[in-house]
Amino acid sequence: MTSWKLIQKAKGILEKERGAVQKPWGGKITVCLLYPNAYHVGMSNLGFQILYRILNAADDVVCERAFLPEPEDLQEYRNTQTPLFSLESQKLLSSFDILAFSISFENDFLNVLTLLELAHIPPESCLRDGRYPLVIAGGVAVFLNPEPVSEFFDLFVLGEAEEVIGQFLAAVRQTLSDKKKKEKDDLLRTLGGLEGIYVPKFYRVTYAEDGKIEAMDPEPGFPRKVKRRWVSKLDQFPTQSVLFTPDTEFKEMALVEVNRGCPRGCRFCAACFVYHPFRNRSLSSLESISKEALLNEHRIGLTGTAVSDHPKLLPLCQTILSQRGGISLSSLRVDAVTPSLIQCLREGEDRTVAIAPEAGSERLRKMLKKGYSEEEILKSINILVENGLSQIKCYFLIGLPSETDEDAKEILLLAKRIRHQILSSQKSRERRWRLVLSVNPFIPKPATPFQWAPLEEIGSLKRKLKMIQRGVQGERGMEIIHDLPKWAYVQALLSRGDRRVGKILMATQRSQGNWSQALRETSINADFYVHRKRDLDEVFPWDFIDHGISKEQLKEEYLGAMKEAGVEI
Ligand code: SF4
Repeated sequence: MTSWKLIQKAKGILEKERGAVQKPWGGKITVCLLYPNAYHVGMSNLGFQILYRILNAADDVVCERAFLPEPEDLQEYRNTQTPLFSLESQKLLSSFDILAFSISFENDFLNVLTLLELAHIPPESCLRDGRYPLVIAGGVAVFLNPEPVSEFFDLFVLGEAEEVIGQFLAAVRQTLSDKKKKEKDDLLRTLGGLEGIYVPKFYRVTYAEDGKIEAMDPEPGFPRKVKRRWVSKLDQFPTQSVLFTPDTEFKEMALVEVNRGCPRGCRFCAACFVYHPFRNRSLSSLESISKEALLNEHRIGLTGTAVSDHPKLLPLCQTILSQRGGISLSSLRVDAVTPSLIQCLREGEDRTVAIAPEAGSERLRKMLKKGYSEEEILKSINILVENGLSQIKCYFLIGLPSETDEDAKEILLLAKRIRHQILSSQKSRERRWRLVLSVNPFIPKPATPFQWAPLEEIGSLKRKLKMIQRGVQGERGMEIIHDLPKWAYVQALLSRGDRRVGKILMATQRSQGNWSQALRETSINADFYVHRKRDLDEVFPWDFIDHGISKEQLKEEYLGAMKEAGVEI
C-alpha cells in the first residue's frame, strides 16, 4: 500500500524546487541518491548536489533522490507500510539498480539503517542477492573510515566521486545488462578491481586476544591498500549548486566551491588531511561559475576547506560585487581578515563572520598548529568591527590532548577579551553586536595526527562546558552553542570503530535509537574504541586506505604535538 498523503507531500516538495531532473526510465541505469538526513540538510550539501548533476549528465543514467523522512512522515511510512519511494518519480527504492548513499557525518550512519528498513531492503549486504539494488556509499565520513558500516554496503567509493564515477558507470554498464544471469559476486568482483572502490566482503579482518586488529587481508586480486581518489585539476569539474529550494539552510544562495584541502595542516583537522593536497580553482573558472550561479540566486556562498587561503579571494569577491551579487563565506582564517576583504563582504551583505581560534590558550593553539597569538586574534576582531561586521562567531574545541581546566578557562577569558575588543572597536555604541561561541568536544579523527589520542571522558567534557556556560551567563550580547558530549561519544565510536561496531548500530536501530540500551545489549565495549589511547604501532581499522599521507608522517606530527604539550607517550 502506498500512502497518498506521502505522495502528495513529495509532489509539493518538487513543485517548490528548481533544477530537479525527471527522465524516462526505459533501458537506463537507475540510481537513487540518498542523503541519510532530512531534506533541508541534504539539500544544503554541495557534494550531494554535484553527484546528482554528474549522474544525470549521462544519457543512459536516471538519478533521483530520497531523504530521511521528517518525524511525522516517518510515522506515516510505518503506519501505512508504505515502502520508501524516490522524490522525482515516486518509484520504490527497491526498483532501482543502485542505491547510492552520500554520507558526510558519522552520526548519520544510523539513518542508513532506517532508510533501508523503510525501503523494505535487508540491511546486511550478505542477505541481499542480485534481485536487490546494489547498495553503495561515498562521502567524507566513509572515506575516513567505512568499517563500522561495512556490513551494510556492497561497496564504497573512497575519495572524490568526480574522479571515479566515469569508470564506475562504465563497469556497471558492462555488467548490469546481464545482472540477472550473473551472480552479484561477479559484479562486485569487477567493480572491486577499480582504483578507489572498496568491497568489504573481499577483505578478512582477524583480531588479537586483546581485541585489537591483528590483520586485514584481501582476497587474491584485490589491493592491500585502497587508494583514496582525488581530482588533480578542479577546474575540470565546476562545482556549484544545481538544485534550488526555499526549504534549505542556504535558501536564496548558490554555493560555489573555491578549493579543496588546506595548506595549513592543523593537527586535528580531518578535512585538511583527507582532501590533501591543497587545490584551488582558477580565478577565471570561479568568475564564470559565479556568473552562472548568479542567474539562479542573487547571493553566492563561497565554500571549500580553506576559502580564505585562495590567493585570488579578494578579486573574486570584487567580481561578484560588480555583478550585483551578495557574498557569504563559511569562515575566515584569523590572519586573512583584512580591511579590503571585510569591506567587500559587508558590501556583499554578509552579516556574520566566523573565525576559529580553536583553543583559549596559546600553548594549545601551538600544539594544534594553529599558533595565532592573542594579539593577532584581537587584531582580526578589530578589523571586522571597524569595517562594520559585528556579528561574530568563534569556534572552540574542548577536551584537546593535555588540556587542563586552566586551558578551558582560557576560552572564557579570550571570549571576554574578544567582547571587550568588539565594544572598544565599535564606532557607535548604538550598533547591534553579537558574539556566538561555538564550543564543541574535540574528536580525534582517523587519518589525522591525533588518531592515536582518546576522546576525553564525558564527565570532564561536561564539567568544562558548564564552567564556560556559567562564565558567559548574563553577559549581554554573548551566547554559547554546543553539541552534547554524549553525541561526541557516539561520533567518536562511529568514526574510530571497526567492523564489530556495526552490531551496535543494528542494536540501536532495533531499539529505535536508544544508544544506552543498545550498548547494554551488545557485548561490545564501546569505551575500547572511544576512550582508549592507541598504541603507536596499532593496526587501525582504516589503515587499509591510502589517504595520501603515510602513517609515519602522521605519527611524526603526533609525537611532535605531544612533545610540545609535554605529554609522555
Ligand atoms: S582547521 Fe582550517 S586552517 Fe587548519 S587545516 Fe583545517 S581548514 Fe586548514
